Formats: sequence, C-alpha cells, structure tokens
Amino acid sequence: MKTLLPTSTAGSLPKPSWLAEPEKIWSPWALAGDELIQAKQDALLVSLQEQVRAGVDIVSDGEQTRQHFVTTFIEHLDGVDFEQRKTVRIRNRYDASVPSVVGSVSRQKPVFVDDAKFLRQHTDQPIKWALPGPMTMIDTLYDGHYKSREKLAWEFAKILNQEARELEAAGVDIIQFDEPAFNVFFDDVNDWGIATLERAIEGLKCETAVHICYGYGIKANNDWKKTLGSEWRQYEQAFPKLQQSKIDIVSLECQNSHVPMDLIELIRGKKVMVGAIDVATNDIETPEAVADTLRKALQFVDADKLYPSTNCGMAPLSRQVARGKLAALSAGAEIVRQELTR
Ligand SMILES: [Zn+2]
Repeated sequence: MKTLLPTSTAGSLPKPSWLAEPEKIWSPWALAGDELIQAKQDALLVSLQEQVRAGVDIVSDGEQTRQHFVTTFIEHLDGVDFEQRKTVRIRNRYDASVPSVVGSVSRQKPVFVDDAKFLRQHTDQPIKWALPGPMTMIDTLYDGHYKSREKLAWEFAKILNQEARELEAAGVDIIQFDEPAFNVFFDDVNDWGIATLERAIEGLKCETAVHICYGYGIKANNDWKKTLGSEWRQYEQAFPKLQQSKIDIVSLECQNSHVPMDLIELIRGKKVMVGAIDVATNDIETPEAVADTLRKALQFVDADKLYPSTNCGMAPLSRQVARGKLAALSAGAEIVRQELTR
C-alpha cells in the first residue's frame, strides 16, 4: 500500500432491509432464487459505494452475499450435514445448534470466487476478502466423523487454501482469515492453530491477514467480556508465535477495549490493522477519538505498517450508525496522517 495509514473494515457491513432483516446476525434472506442473486449483487455495490464515499482505502464486499462469516462458507462444502444438528458450546461461551460433520469434508466448487470477481470488476481500489479460519470453523460444528479438532482443522486448511488461491487469481489483494477462536483456545492455537492457518495461506503471493477479536457486539459476547477482568491479555498467548508466522497482517480490537496496547509490541514487524472503531456500541466515535487510538498504537507499530480499521464486523449495527463510524475512521486516520507528514 502506497497510502499512509490505509483504512479498511474488519469484516461485515449492515445489509439493506430489502436483502435481509437488518441489525441481526444469521438474518434470513428476504428473497429467493434469481431475485436473491440479483439483490446480493446490488447490495454489494451499495456497500462498496458507501465505503468509497466514506473514504475507506481498502474496500470489501461488506459480506453482503453471506448470511454468516463461518456458516455460509461451510454450507458450500461436502461432508457437513445441515439437517443433522447438535447443540455445542461456541468458543466456550454460548450454546448453539450447529451442523454435523458426517464424512470427509471437501470443496466441490468455489464458494466466493464469483462474488470476488464481481467486486473486482467494480473498483480499482485494493480489495480485501474475508474467509473463516480453520480453528473458528471447527468450533462452529459438531464433528461425528474425524473426532479430532486438529484433524478437521487441517482438512479445512486445505480447502481454505484452494479457495484462497482462486480468490487471489480473481484479483483479491488481501485475504483475511477470521480467527476469534484464537482468543479462547490458547493451547490449541500454539499446538496447531497457527500451523493450520499457515497451511491455508500456503503458496499465496497476495497479502494475508488474520483477524482476532472479541466478537460482534451481541449479548453472549458482551456477557463474556464482563468476565475477562480489567485487562484483556488474551492476545499475549498467540502473538509470539504469530510474530514468527508467515501471516503479513494482524487485525486487532483496540477501541474501547481492555486490551493493553503494549501487547502490539509482541508482533513487531507485522502490519497491524488497529481496531479504532468499537462495533459494540451505537455511539459514533469522534475523529479525535479514532486519532487518539491510532496515536497510542503508533508507539508499538511503525507508521508504514499501521492500518486503521474497525474492531470487528458491523453487520449487527444500523446502516446509519455504520456509515457514521466509517466516516469517523477516515477522518481520524486523516488527522494522524497530517501529523505524520507535517
Ligand atoms: Zn471480529
């Protein structure tokens, strides 16, 4: 990136009400068949336009074509039965009814590649595409086949690599893997979590990112955060090994969070997408508040490696709030840019 402090969002953006019920995750589609396909593309263009208008530098699809950042990808794979549901505990936090792995998992055809091509056709700006990470994928399933979290993660890593290579060929500049599970299962992260992530990025020439957050601003996550105490040191567990990994960019939650900023020092050398927008509140940050977070981060990350971003996805927020937050992100980044180039 030639732009200093290039802005981006961590993930999803709100969907228009004509596509799906707003301010909700796993929101059902409002249309079906060809109408749905058309509506998803229209929504992708609206989302792109809103990012461009807000001055976002690295744009995305706003995840307009997927219902959920993990399940939509899994729905396209063989070996997972969505009828056979079991209740499991997600990230040790809340119970959810999830599909079952019933056989060998595989990807018969690309999942998001057509969507990525569509986005590529409509913008010359750098684009970032999000995929779920292997560890977060296995945490959203009941596994009655491999009966090993690690084995299943390696299988998913292989599949993710196939998808990632095709996304790269479609013109995606940054492929991001969402791994909120990295903040929960520390032993697994260090034993095989980061290794499976590296398998997923094998052979890629585009940039790669991992997004590790404290989740959407939904009740189960907010309740969990209350149990974490005044200092959130979870990142400390994965960072030393991530610093040694081949991942280019680490996307983090920093705004209104209890994460001590100095933990970023542990990934010195990596590019850091610093979350400077809180997605768990409707209060829109002032540009000055965004700038303040970025200035703090600059103590631990070199300016040419700092990418201002949001804490997490904004799908559960209203479009109006998300729009305000995107504008604040750009304005805050511009304040610091001016200071750095003065
Ligand atoms: Zn997130």
